[in-house]
Amino acid sequence: MKSPPIECPACRSTDVHACGKRYGLYPAGPLAIFGVAFAMLHQTSRPFDYRCKTCGQEFARRTPIARVVRWLFIPLVWFFVIAFGLGILSLLFRR
Ligand SMILES: [Zn+2]
Repeated sequence: MKSPPIECPACRSTDVHACGKRYGLYPAGPLAIFGVAFAMLHQTSRPFDYRCKTCGQEFARRTPIARVVRWLFIPLVWFFVIAFGLGILSLLFRR
């Protein structure tokens, strides 16, 4: 399966240079609480950085895998946030 060529958003040139995966702020908190699998999911969903060779525009694209992982990741985050919130609430209102 061949993915479509990466296109510059400014000048529509497909002559772009891949700068590599963008690593944002490392999720140290989630890593400590939920383990390595969670952090791996987060890193997989990070976008790829590109620079256009024609006009110098820098932009980011997600790979199809990153897009899929991201859609798995968002409900997972909500699940953990809600579970964590309910846990705190049950501690606060414990008699
Ligand atoms: Zn360009």
